[in-house]
Amino acid sequence: DDAGVPGRVRVAVRLRPRNAEESVADADFADCVELQPEFKRLKLRKNNWDTDTYEFDEVLTESASQKRVYEVVAKPVVESVLDGYNGTVMAYGQTGTGKTYTLGRLGEEDTADRGIIVRAMEDILADVSLESDSVSVSYLQLYMESLQDLLDPTNDNISIVEEPKSGDVSLPGATLVEIRDQQSFLELLQLGEAHRYAANTRLNTESSRSHALLMVYVKRSVKGRELAHSSQNGNSTNMAKSLRPTLVRKGKLVVVDLAGSERIDKSGSEGHTLEEAKSINLSLSALGKCINALAENSAHVPVRDSKLTRLLRDSFGGTARTSLAMKVENMLKLKEEFDYKSLARKLDI
Ligand code: ADP
Ligand code: MG
Repeated sequence: DDAGVPGRVRVAVRLRPRNAEESVADADFADCVELQPEFKRLKLRKNNWDTDTYEFDEVLTESASQKRVYEVVAKPVVESVLDGYNGTVMAYGQTGTGKTYTLGRLGEEDTADRGIIVRAMEDILADVSLESDSVSVSYLQLYMESLQDLLDPTNDNISIVEEPKSGDVSLPGATLVEIRDQQSFLELLQLGEAHRYAANTRLNTESSRSHALLMVYVKRSVKGRELAHSSQNGNSTNMAKSLRPTLVRKGKLVVVDLAGSERIDKSGSEGHTLEEAKSINLSLSALGKCINALAENSAHVPVRDSKLTRLLRDSFGGTARTSLAMKVENMLKLKEEFDYKSLARKLDI
């Protein structure tokens, strides 16, 4: 049932609170961004007399809690995954704007801090019945054009297989771990983080230069009497053709912590960094084209342009849902020479 779901892509913007450095009273700093959450608007001050206004599906202020961000950005996607759809939640923004905080925070000291990933798994585990259903995860890093397994550091060249008929994406080489409780999931995430840190140290790069992807596969058996009202679900096999008493309904949740969206200045970088910059710019612009195509309900979504979009292709399908959280730096230097155009470019708006 699609009622109440406004479109295939929803875009929310979240402003993070000022950090200590930005909080220092300084005439050089001022807010260039004003949020109007009641109108779902963001106003960008271009100069002292001129502003640009942008509309989003949701506008989350500095005081929005992690719980509220989860409920607005991710919960509808998680619920549709539990119903057998594919769904994606992505965080986009410059390095330092709070993507990892929003998605990946474990909240071990204070559960109020828990990010989207932890809350999503809590909701999934609460909804499934582990006698008949299964929840398993893979955790990957896409660096340049190589897909690395964060659950098995020896595996840094995972191939993407696309089923020609269904368009489903599978990653036959990726470690898949079945999750039975929240504690072992948290331990798995920590292991993945440690492997990510080690891999990036070895490659002499930073985590902000790669995309991190958590895949959560939910398989549920659907009992006979539930079939009547679930037959419109995308991934359920047709009851009429099956004599089995139960059917398997599959949903996939992909959570993507995207590489920093800052445009790396080509003149100031060389070698490795330039290659990284090109790769990041290519994948983010390919992603942007897909998001635009989805938002416009275009029949053609150009998924072939990058590995990132090929990986996500079955999340861009007819029934899949995508939620994108954009981040804006709260504080921007407001100086005479401040380049407002470059800010707009950083926001990709
Ligand atoms: P990114 O992943 O986009 O590079 P981080 O998630 O690492 O950014 O956030 C940068 C810093 O800002 C971190 O120290 C993080 O704890 C802090 N931060 C980000 N968002 C928030 C928030 N909503 N509330 C409090 N601190 C935040
Ligand atoms: Mg980060």
